[in-house]
Amino acid sequence: MSTTTPSLEAAKGRSELPQVYNNYIGGRWVKAKNGETFPSTSPANVNEVVGHFASSGPEDVKAAVDAAAKAFPAWKHTPAPARADIILKAAYILETRKEEIARTMVREMGKVIKEARGDVQEAIDMAKYMAGEGRRLFGHTCPSEMPDKFAMAIRQPLGVVGLITPWNFPVAIPSWKMFPALVAGNTVVFKPATDTPLCALMLVEVMIEAGLPAGVLNFVTGAGSKVGNAIVDDPRVRAISVTGSTEVGRKIAGRCGELMKRISCELGGKNAVCVMDDADMDLVIEGAVWGAFGTAGQRCTAASRVIVHKSRYKEFLDKFVARTKALKLGNGLDPVNEVGPVINKEQLKSINEYVEIGLKEGAKLMCGGKIVEDGELGKGCFHEPTIFADVKADMRIAQEEIFGPVTAVIPVESFEEMLEVANGTQFGLSLSMYTRDINRAFKAMDELESGIVYINAPTIGAEIQLPFGGIKQTGNGHREAGITAIEQFTEWKAIYVDYSGKLQKAQIDNHPANSAE
Ligand code: NAD
Repeated sequence: MSTTTPSLEAAKGRSELPQVYNNYIGGRWVKAKNGETFPSTSPANVNEVVGHFASSGPEDVKAAVDAAAKAFPAWKHTPAPARADIILKAAYILETRKEEIARTMVREMGKVIKEARGDVQEAIDMAKYMAGEGRRLFGHTCPSEMPDKFAMAIRQPLGVVGLITPWNFPVAIPSWKMFPALVAGNTVVFKPATDTPLCALMLVEVMIEAGLPAGVLNFVTGAGSKVGNAIVDDPRVRAISVTGSTEVGRKIAGRCGELMKRISCELGGKNAVCVMDDADMDLVIEGAVWGAFGTAGQRCTAASRVIVHKSRYKEFLDKFVARTKALKLGNGLDPVNEVGPVINKEQLKSINEYVEIGLKEGAKLMCGGKIVEDGELGKGCFHEPTIFADVKADMRIAQEEIFGPVTAVIPVESFEEMLEVANGTQFGLSLSMYTRDINRAFKAMDELESGIVYINAPTIGAEIQLPFGGIKQTGNGHREAGITAIEQFTEWKAIYVDYSGKLQKAQIDNHPANSAE
């Protein structure tokens, strides 16, 4: 198996700027078979082209699955600790390239530089954690009911797996899927979001440099409807792991259901920070601002609702609005800026439509609400951080994922009502409660209906060593990260070894009454 490591230069089809980048299939950088490309542009200035990428089709996916299927037997039989060594090496390479990748991420995705560094750091953390899994991949042994019989269950890789990722964490989210998939012995076809192919390509490049054999990781860029669909439909792809919108996840999960294919979905959210009457208000304000406007509200865990006890409502609103108005909006490469652009013009329009919806529904606009159209920022996709007050729990802006810097503040009368409102959406990803009352804190941990709960911290800030994912329409029962990440990418095999030298019939021989005439 080849372990040559083509450099990033080899990914480029020609040398003049902006660069053209190719797919990576079977250990080679190759153009889309149709020869077509699409541009990736910077959300801070849509006239700036970051690169051109292969606009692939089903025929490229077929080639990628061919390569992944061919590479699977050897990769499966590579000892897991040796697979893990490559992932650990990737962690070290990511560390040395962290600043370069983070700066590319700011250009291509828009998040501010310190968050971009955090995104790469998350991939480093995941690589180190999953490298340790190479010497675990724990199975079970258990007693047999029969004498001289051994019983155990081991994990095995699935085969070829398809990874479909969004643009909001363009390095971290692919790493959450890729590292556990690879350490478990699967081979991969990876399709990143069309808004962030360069970040994804840099991650692939790191894996090649780390020594991943040809065909083990294959990278195909292009539209979800062409590339994503073709990955899902290929019968040799044994599992799909997708992070994206609930709409897309539902479609893919439906198709996987028909094909009897394993599917793990990480989808939308409508997360809330809950503020009880005894909360530390300064802590709340910092947390709510970070939760609502970090990554310009484009986190699946963003605090797009803040539910506040009426006794602290005015105090909260005054401070929250003042702090939000002071946020610095601008290009994420300038470290003074706190909020960057949103991903593209289409998303910008969709966010602003929600502002119109909120106004029509009778919510009170406290600040923001506009697309920035003038000056340097007017060249990009900047939306003012926006707060709606006096929001009712059933309004669309309190129910639907907006995925931008817009949050809805909802007043409530009691702790019980707070829980009811917090739980009253179709989503269940991340909920947080600010209170100094230990009894209420534990009640909240128990009653909040979400995959992630924070006490005295905002809805964002997950660490990679705990399970990550949501309930209800956010997910379909799987969890990424932590020890649970391996579950998605392994199949259990139960094994019985009978060393008694005779036929032993379980449930019969050791129950004499069962054999009675
Ligand atoms: P999206 O649903 O538009 O796209 C996600 C991925 O699916 C992309 O790679 C896209 O090309 C692909 N895709 C689209 N249609 C497809 C199809 N028919 N078949 C196969 N693949 C297809 O999402 P996005 O705009 O990239 O990301 C934002 C969404 O992701 C938000 O809803 C956000 O909440 C969600 N998200 C969830 C989590 C989580 O862990 N729960 C984390 C981050 C983002």
